Amino acid sequence: MIIGIPKETKPDEYRVSMLPVGVELLVQQGHEVLVQRGAGVGSGYEDDAYEAAGARLVDEAGEVLERGELIVKVKEPVGDEPNMLRRGQVVFTYFHFAASKTLTEACLEAGITALAYETLTDAQGRLPLLTPMSEVAGRMAVQEGAKYLEKPQMGRGILLGGVPGVEPGNVVVLGGGVVGTNAARAAAGLGAHVTIMDVNLDRLRYLSEVMPANVYTAYSDPHTIAEHAVQADLVIGAVLIPGARAPMLIRRDLLKQMKNGAVIVDVGVDQGGCVETTRPTTHREPTYVIDGVVHYCVTNMPGAVGRTSTQALCHATQPYILRLAKHGVDKLLRAEQPFADALNMRDGKLANHAVAEAHDMLD
Ligand code: NAD
Repeated sequence: MIIGIPKETKPDEYRVSMLPVGVELLVQQGHEVLVQRGAGVGSGYEDDAYEAAGARLVDEAGEVLERGELIVKVKEPVGDEPNMLRRGQVVFTYFHFAASKTLTEACLEAGITALAYETLTDAQGRLPLLTPMSEVAGRMAVQEGAKYLEKPQMGRGILLGGVPGVEPGNVVVLGGGVVGTNAARAAAGLGAHVTIMDVNLDRLRYLSEVMPANVYTAYSDPHTIAEHAVQADLVIGAVLIPGARAPMLIRRDLLKQMKNGAVIVDVGVDQGGCVETTRPTTHREPTYVIDGVVHYCVTNMPGAVGRTSTQALCHATQPYILRLAKHGVDKLLRAEQPFADALNMRDGKLANHAVAEAHDMLD
């Protein structure tokens, strides 16, 4: 099989979809691996390392995307990329189709088979290819939130941990999954007063057992969210309903009641976000202010810490890529549930209920 690894083109995206060690394993299995020149440089992996691993380096994205039978990426196809894809190809990457009808239509038009990292589910019901990036984004959310709370960044001028004699900041984390847990732990580590909210009571029970003493749990309903949001210095949006658009938890009228200079880091922006005023931003221009509240809504947060993120992502994706190359998608879709769950499109036909529902495309 020919496996294509293009350079990512999303603004300030420094990750690459395979490490040289993964390429070496594919080549040992007898596959041809095309790597676009410079694909790994942003993560600190030079072309030489891929060449030494047995890859064939190519200059143009077009060649990788055209010739590859299995295309492995990090982010969804952007810009011209969907036009370079073709029927019969398998594309394995983060798609987040529910958040973009345009992307969904472009990929349907291209006729690809889309296997989405974010819906691949393991036997325990976890999302193993979302987890490592959620770990990164959760920890980063606090780092970014702390930065934008600084006055010169339009924030309230609050140091999250406080100092002796001065109260710490209030952090509210909406969603107690992987992002939320990592965010809550990082915020607690800084000394903030943290409340983590979820609709899953078992999850809240677990969190109240394992979290540090400065993390409190709360059930996520509209009244409780409102009570906490108006007191918050930093709100972190970390909710997910797999495959679907994120539920809207902070509407404009609630936003207006929040503190002036408070910060919202809506990590779930890739699924539409849980704040009415959320819109996607980039690392170049990560924030905007509405009603005095700073919004940070970068869709590819882990891209900024490319080296850490590439290593974490590839450790998780590599076993699945090796299986896809070895057995082919047809066999795996029949035999292995994680691949069936990852399937969002099959040869240009929508194959994920939540995505179809999000775009009124149910048959
Ligand atoms: P997860 O499934 O581990 O956790 C989601 C949690 O949200 C679950 O515990 C669920 O019970 C909870 N939830 C659902 N509805 C809720 C509600 N109404 N109120 C409160 N909680 C609710 O997911 P995750 O791995 O933590 O990912 C969260 C989001 O972050 C996803 O959309 C993911 O794609 C996104 N993400 C974004 C970036 C980025 O760069 N912006 C990076 C990584 C992950």
